[in-house]
Amino acid sequence: MSINSTRAVEAISPWKQKRILITGGAGFLGSHLCDRLLTEGHEVICVDNFYSSTKQNILHLLDNPRFELIRHDVTFPLYLEIDEIYNMACPASPVHYQHDPVQTTKTSVHGAINMLGLAKRTGAKILQASTSEVYGDPIVHPQVETYWGNVNPIGPRSCYDEGKRCAETLFFDYHRQHGVQTKVVRIFNTYGPRMHPNDGRVVSNFIVQALLGKPITLFGEGTQTRSFCYVDDLIEVIIRTMNSDDAFIGPVNIGNPTEFTMLELAEVVKSKVSQNVGIVHKPLPVNDPTQRKPDISLAKSELDWAPKVELDEGITKTISYFKNLLGVELKVAA
Ligand code: NAD
Ligand code: UDP
Repeated sequence: MSINSTRAVEAISPWKQKRILITGGAGFLGSHLCDRLLTEGHEVICVDNFYSSTKQNILHLLDNPRFELIRHDVTFPLYLEIDEIYNMACPASPVHYQHDPVQTTKTSVHGAINMLGLAKRTGAKILQASTSEVYGDPIVHPQVETYWGNVNPIGPRSCYDEGKRCAETLFFDYHRQHGVQTKVVRIFNTYGPRMHPNDGRVVSNFIVQALLGKPITLFGEGTQTRSFCYVDDLIEVIIRTMNSDDAFIGPVNIGNPTEFTMLELAEVVKSKVSQNVGIVHKPLPVNDPTQRKPDISLAKSELDWAPKVELDEGITKTISYFKNLLGVELKVAA
C-alpha cells in the first residue's frame, strides 16, 4: 500500500483503503468503476484524455476529496504512486476507434507499456480491459478463452483487435519476465447508462434513434449476433477479478451469454420506445463479426460470478437514462 493510503475515510478501514488508478475513467465503464471503488472507500485517480468521453460522466465526483481527475494521454508515461491500476483507456466503439486508427493502436500498445511500467515500478496490481474482439470473427462458438481467434490483421477493425491482442501479450510477458501482478478480462458487448449518445455502438444507437423518432439503422440483414451484458453485472465481475487470488491472471471472458440477433434487439427497442419508428437497412461494415457469445464457465468457477440483469430490464433502465439525457417526453413501455 502507498504511504498515503492510511488516511482515514468513512467507508473502509484505513488498512484496507487503496489508491487506485483508473485509466479511461471518464468513459462509460471507467466512470462506473470510479463510482463503485469510491463507494467502497478507496482513493480513485481518474486519468483520461477525453478522446471518446466528456467530463459529464464524472461531474458528480469532482467535489469528492477521495477523487482526483488528471487529463492525460496514456500513450505518454505517467508517474504516480498507486496500489492498483484498472487499464480501461481505449475507445471501444468501432466508429470512434476507426476515426484515428493509428492513435487507437498507440493507446492499446504504448498505453499498456506505460501502465505496465508504472505497475512494475510501484508494485501495483494491474488489470487490462481486453475484449471479445481478440477472437475476431470467431469460428468457435461460443467463444472459450483457449480459442486463439480469427482476426484480420490488416482490416479497418485491426487497429483495435490487434492492439488489444498485443496488449494481452505485453501483460503476459510483464507477468512472466518481471513478475508484475497482472489480470486480463475479455469484455463482451456491455451497455447501460453513461454510454455517449453519439457513441455509435448498437444499443445506444437504436435507443437514441427510437427516442428521437428516427428510423433504427440496422446494418446488413440484422442476422449477426451479439450477447449483451448490463453494466452493473460487468463492474461487479471486473472488481472480483482484480480481488481474486494472485494465481488467477486470466484471460477470463466476462459478459452475458444470452445471444440475440441485431434484428431481435431492434424489435426489443421498438417495443419499449415506439412501435412507430421504422427500420432502415444500411451496409454491413467490413469484417463485422457474424456471431459472438461468451463461454463464461471460467468466470463462474473462478470468480463465482454470473450476470443477473436480463436484457429486458437492462434496456428499460438504459432507455430511462437516455430519455432524461435527451429530455424527450416519450412513454417507455413497462
Ligand atoms: P469509452 O469510449 O466510453 O471509454 C474509454 C475511455 O478511454 C474514454 O473516456 C476515452 O476518452 C479514454 N481514452 C481513450 N484513449 C485514451 C488515451 N490515449 N489516454 C487516456 N484516455 C483515453 O469505452 P468503454 O465502453 O467505457 O470501454 C472501456 C474499456 O473497456 C476499453 O478499453 C474497451 O476496449 C473495453 N471494452 C469495452 C466493451 C464494451 O462493450 N463497453 C467491450 C469490450 C472491451
Ligand atoms: N449495428 C447496427 N446498427 C448500428 C450500429 C451497429 O446494426 O447502428 C450492428 C453492427 O453491425 C454489429 C452489431 O450491431 O453487427 C454490434 O455493433 P457495435 O458497434 O455495438 O459493436 P461490435 O460488437 O461490432 O464491436
